Amino acid sequence: MTTYLFPPSPIPAIPVAGSNDRYPVRRIFCVGRNYEAHAKEMGVQVDREAPFYFTKAADTYVPSGASISYPPGTSNYHYEMELVAVIGKAGFEIPREQALEHVFGYACGLDMTRRDLQLAAREQRRPWDLGKDVEQSAVISAIVPAQQCGHPSSGAIELRVNGEQKQSSDLSLLIHGISDLIAHLSRYYHLTPGDVIFTGTPEGVGPVVAGDHIAGSIAGLGDISLTIQAA
Ligand code: MN
Repeated sequence: MTTYLFPPSPIPAIPVAGSNDRYPVRRIFCVGRNYEAHAKEMGVQVDREAPFYFTKAADTYVPSGASISYPPGTSNYHYEMELVAVIGKAGFEIPREQALEHVFGYACGLDMTRRDLQLAAREQRRPWDLGKDVEQSAVISAIVPAQQCGHPSSGAIELRVNGEQKQSSDLSLLIHGISDLIAHLSRYYHLTPGDVIFTGTPEGVGPVVAGDHIAGSIAGLGDISLTIQAA
């Protein structure tokens, strides 16, 4: 029998709406520059040919409604409101036409970002980990099974900070939609249940400070919230 040197970390698990089930997280993939207007505000071109990705460790997950401390090492911590898709069926080299069969459901996500560190890395052609793979930076709301909500290809996505609207867009403006992302990502990874995909943020990203309250929503998928505390 295996004995561990110390107790293994608990498995991060996302609530499923309307159920006592939880969705255990294996990997978190995040898509960059997937809305034209956001790429523009970041001063970069979009690539319509192929999406690109970065990852966050599974244990960066925090549930909607959490209060987190302002993270270390940054003075420009940003929100990014995103549609999240979670895989429910394993697959490799999944054809675009079958991609949606592999989605268990959808949620609202916040890809919290140390923007100063991300941009410094970008400038130096270094990986984005310090900017993106931040403790407590993958905020995800309860998953709505696709059986209930279908596969959203349009609908409002928006975010407010302290009640003030900061992001307001529509899922129809995603450059690479859910089917495209799954078809593409599964050429490089053997996707399995537990794999989570943040699909990218629309324009209007910006900083938060201690004391701020973030609230976002996506049509048909409910709300997400996060409170920032002093470090
Ligand atoms: Mn993002």
